[in-house]
Amino acid sequence: MSKIILTGDRPTGRLHIGHYVGSLRRRVELQNSGEYDKTYIMIADAQALTDNVDNPDKVRENIIEVALDYLACGLDPSKATLFIQSQISELCELTFYYMNLVTVSRLQRNPTVKAEIQLRNFEASIPVGFFCYPISQAADITFCKATTVPVGEDQLPMIEQTKEIVHKFNSIYAPDKPVLVDPQALIPEAEACKRLPGTDGKAKMSKSLGNCIYLADTADEIRTKVMGMYTDPLHLQVSDPGHLEGNTVFIYLDAFARDEHFERYLPEYANLDELKAHYTRGGLGDVKVKKFLNSVIQEELEPIRNRRTEFAKDIPEIYNILKKGSDAAREVAGQTLSEVKQAMRIDYFEDSEMIKAQSERYAE
Ligand code: ATP
Ligand code: MG
Repeated sequence: MSKIILTGDRPTGRLHIGHYVGSLRRRVELQNSGEYDKTYIMIADAQALTDNVDNPDKVRENIIEVALDYLACGLDPSKATLFIQSQISELCELTFYYMNLVTVSRLQRNPTVKAEIQLRNFEASIPVGFFCYPISQAADITFCKATTVPVGEDQLPMIEQTKEIVHKFNSIYAPDKPVLVDPQALIPEAEACKRLPGTDGKAKMSKSLGNCIYLADTADEIRTKVMGMYTDPLHLQVSDPGHLEGNTVFIYLDAFARDEHFERYLPEYANLDELKAHYTRGGLGDVKVKKFLNSVIQEELEPIRNRRTEFAKDIPEIYNILKKGSDAAREVAGQTLSEVKQAMRIDYFEDSEMIKAQSERYAE
């Protein structure tokens, strides 16, 4: 069986370091590993519209921002198909058919959707489209028969929902020869990368919460954000013992710092364990740790920012890449949709056997 990657992001803002450690960094490695037959990367504009219904220009303007972030991080259009969700109308058809396979109560149980409803204050006025987006995400994942979905931890309930749809579809419509492929989520191994918190210490760095360090931030913006980060409210004096749990600066170091960073920027410690030990013992100030984190993040983001500036010199070319990718994705989606319709017994005009049998029956 082919090994196929599908993943994507909502164009609700520029991409941030949570995306980077949660999914983007991994995607680029997988793309370059040579182990996958195909890589599809989707800009999920239709999904973004489910909770930005009155702000289409925000979604429209952010397509290019997300595409630039992709290219800057090393996603390569010669190896990966970069496309825009709304341009693949087949996805709507797949979603419509998958809706019959999911109950309202099952959607209500989805913990990520529950948290997002609360965050957006939807309460009783949840748009139906938003409520159903896990189903449309199943269409996104299955149209290309994805086997591997590199995502952050918040996406696990979506992959679970997709698996249920795949199993139900295959068992009802294609019991002998499965049509849809069961996908596997690929979440980061490091705890800190599964759901990177915001600079304010909130549970998740998220475009919608405005607590992000963006890949496109300038060196000054990064420095200001890092120096203002949430740490340990009990660590008032340098001599006080510090706490690591919920300490955003140390969580970011878990996600980014490597031993060679210590050699370069903080040679009095050999590694992160030594730094943590000193902090918890007392006698190590937040400012020193933040300065170190700033150096580490600057080193990681500078080349990305420079590549982004280069790509931004030819915006029409970026749209060409997305158009080409969308055309290619559409072709694959058309193929899957026809298999789906055949399995669902709604391929009337292609079924000459049926037409013949019915003619014979009426001729008798
Ligand atoms: P929005 O607030 O519009 O939902 P977002 O910041 O949550 O935006 P998405 O486009 O929803 O970003 O997420 C895209 C991908 O990035 C998903 O795979 C998601 O799991 C991952 N991701 C997003 N935020 C984080 C984070 N803070 N830590 C790790 N992974 C993340
Ligand atoms: Mg999100």
